[in-house]
Amino acid sequence: MSETRYIFVTGGVTSSLGKGIISSSLAVLLKARGYKVTIQKLDPYINIDPGTLNPYEHGECYVTEDGAETDLDLGHYERFTNVYTSQANNVTTGRVYLSVIDKERRGDYLGSTVQVIPHITDEIKRRVELLGNTGNYDFVITEIGGTVGDIESLPFIESIRQLKWELGNRAVVIHLTYIPYLAAAGELKTKPTQHSVKAMLQQGVQPDIIVCRTEHPLTENIRSKVSLFCNISKDCVIESIDASTIYEVPLNMLKEKLDVQVLKKLNIEITNEPELNEWKTFVYKLKNPIQEIKIALVGKYVELHDAYKSISEAFIHAGATQQCKVKIKWIKAENLEENENLREIFSDVQGILVAPGFGQRGIEGKIKAVQYARENNVPFFGICLGMQCAVIEFARNVLGLNGANSVEMDNNTPYPVIDMMEEQKKIRNMGGTMRLGAYPCEVKPDTKLYSAYKTDKISERHRHRYELNNEYLQQFIDKGMIPTGLNPESNLVEAIEIPSHPYFVGVQFHPEYKSTVENPHPLFISFVKAACK
Ligand code: GLN
Repeated sequence: MSETRYIFVTGGVTSSLGKGIISSSLAVLLKARGYKVTIQKLDPYINIDPGTLNPYEHGECYVTEDGAETDLDLGHYERFTNVYTSQANNVTTGRVYLSVIDKERRGDYLGSTVQVIPHITDEIKRRVELLGNTGNYDFVITEIGGTVGDIESLPFIESIRQLKWELGNRAVVIHLTYIPYLAAAGELKTKPTQHSVKAMLQQGVQPDIIVCRTEHPLTENIRSKVSLFCNISKDCVIESIDASTIYEVPLNMLKEKLDVQVLKKLNIEITNEPELNEWKTFVYKLKNPIQEIKIALVGKYVELHDAYKSISEAFIHAGATQQCKVKIKWIKAENLEENENLREIFSDVQGILVAPGFGQRGIEGKIKAVQYARENNVPFFGICLGMQCAVIEFARNVLGLNGANSVEMDNNTPYPVIDMMEEQKKIRNMGGTMRLGAYPCEVKPDTKLYSAYKTDKISERHRHRYELNNEYLQQFIDKGMIPTGLNPESNLVEAIEIPSHPYFVGVQFHPEYKSTVENPHPLFISFVKAACK
């Protein structure tokens, strides 16, 4: 297409309606029609990025190829579209203000008073159009975090108002709302949606399409009401009913013609139908498993499953390739510390995954889980901190290095088998300073890693400060834990295995970030296969 079109997705009534899933689903449909699409998230909070946030706040911190620490919705974007995102795809209020204030300090505003309108809104608009101006995309979908009416999101909605005015029929606004069902009255209610659209109108934005999240099918009457009260045509009232899996949402949106309405609003001629055969096969396999396994996920933040979003989605992708339903047994690492009965806890699982994480809490529980997996030949997969725990466990219980630890947990450990990376030692700031993003890794032949990837050169994403201490490497090798992936430049150990164990793999990188519907991750597939045996 000659000119990029802009699609804005706002939310009303309540948060957690799944704007990210709707945006991703629309992207899937447009992509299936042959268009190039990217999705961007504007987050109204003041943190520069979610890298410094506790996972309990907004769930997992996702990491892109270029090392941006981002909102977990970017994970959905990549999983659905199989298109990489980047730093430009996640913009927070903090980042917007930081660049405006930097410009002010440089004197770029030539003495004028710096204000929300136009300076902050200009910066927001610049960051939206930045993606369009790359010339790489037919559509830029911009999701606005939060809910319309929030004080924090005002500058973003104002920017949409201006952009809609400036871009004319190159912009469309989709508003996602909630249609509650009142059981006592036996009725769906449109009033909250009416109010939410009024709130948008007060801010000068008329939505073009309304997507209604609902637990019951929308009646014709409800569709008419939303249409009448919200000034939109009835075919632009789209039902988004609860689905058994998020991966069904694109198919539901196809039925509801969300993509068709978007194209019509943007005056784009519809010439073909979306090609979704592979997607449909995936959803079919997902919904019709022929076997089931249970994997223990041992982590620090397990009460909030969103803290491990990419991992649980990667299991869904990998499971579907085997038509295997992967159930996750969430295990709080701390609870293992005092518990003597690990056999009972792990009795019903076919594999143990020790999750990424930070800090001391729960670490001894994770190490116990590793020990159980190693001694009992249970398939084991350690990711980042999970791999580090595997190294610590092996050092203590096989190499006999009592008190071995990571320097992160114990600064005075006699055996710092996991140590801070050299380039990290001088860093003082916490935000954006870890070893982040994609780095190459060389895979040793005749290893589990190699049989998963089937190549000796891979690239995976990272997010860590600590690393296996190579001074101890020979001791590990001598006793049967071997490095199977190495960074070619720095020789950092990226993966370890115990070849004598049926399946014991630890990786310093985060394979989960790269698993998509189109490309389920080879390591998750190999772990699922091992657990299925
Ligand atoms: N805390 C560990 C480190 O910084 C592991 C990080 C992680 O699991 N993402 O190296």
